[in-house]
Amino acid sequence: MLTDYHTHTPLCHHAQGEPEAFIESALKAGLAEYGISDHAPQSPEPFDDWRMLLADLPTYLEWIERARQHAGEKLPVRAGLECDWLPHCQKWIDQLADTYHWDYLIGSIHYLGDKWDFDNPKWLGRWAEADVEEIWTTYWQEYTQMASSGLFDFLGHPDLIKKFAYVPTGDLRKYYEPAITAIAENKIAIELNTAGFHKPCAEQYPSASFLKLAAEAQIPITLTSDAHAPSEVARDFDKGLTLLKAAGFTHLSRFHQRTRHEVPIGKKI
Ligand code: ZN
Ligand code: FE
Ligand code: FE
Ligand code: ZN
Repeated sequence: MLTDYHTHTPLCHHAQGEPEAFIESALKAGLAEYGISDHAPQSPEPFDDWRMLLADLPTYLEWIERARQHAGEKLPVRAGLECDWLPHCQKWIDQLADTYHWDYLIGSIHYLGDKWDFDNPKWLGRWAEADVEEIWTTYWQEYTQMASSGLFDFLGHPDLIKKFAYVPTGDLRKYYEPAITAIAENKIAIELNTAGFHKPCAEQYPSASFLKLAAEAQIPITLTSDAHAPSEVARDFDKGLTLLKAAGFTHLSRFHQRTRHEVPIGKKI
């Protein structure tokens, strides 16, 4: 059975839906576990307009509690956060980690350089004039550092930098390889995030060639939707699962109280 650990709540101001509706979707999809991982607060505030504020954390925990109440015995609900990797973020991530007994923390890169949230559609003009190779180089350097930080349980949407389909020409493995090495050495997991199918890049994060390298390096992986609405929970998991098997993955990761365990793909529970 499958799980979905990357999902959002309206507290980030760009997701919609009541906890009960998200849980109903998860039950309908037959998930074994459901994980909530909204965009974590960022310090110092105000930081941007697409995440919860630190003052929202109690409301976030209430939201998770409502999801748990609705799921009852039928579906374990895990509590997480999607955290932002930024230079010198270690102290802040440590602080966030201590605010609750989280089941997992996701490390994601949405910001580069001068606080550029490169995956925000408002920057399409900037992308059109950008040096794509240079941006990719910086992005993958940051991703490699995030992997080496040891702060997170799994790493989000590995090649999000391709979201608007600005991709260097030629073999992309030279960008992937240092990140793959760092992820494998630090024994952390990644996700196959199906949201990319619905973005200009029109494919999952990460690409098939990244997935193949990750499977060869025996990197643990989990399948996620990055749902920002109930209808998006477990979306395209059939496609994701086919890609995982084709890349050579045999297990999927589950997370509880910041420990990971591996479940064989196709296991019935
Ligand atoms: Zn989001
Ligand atoms: Fe993200
Ligand atoms: Fe997300
Ligand atoms: Zn995400």
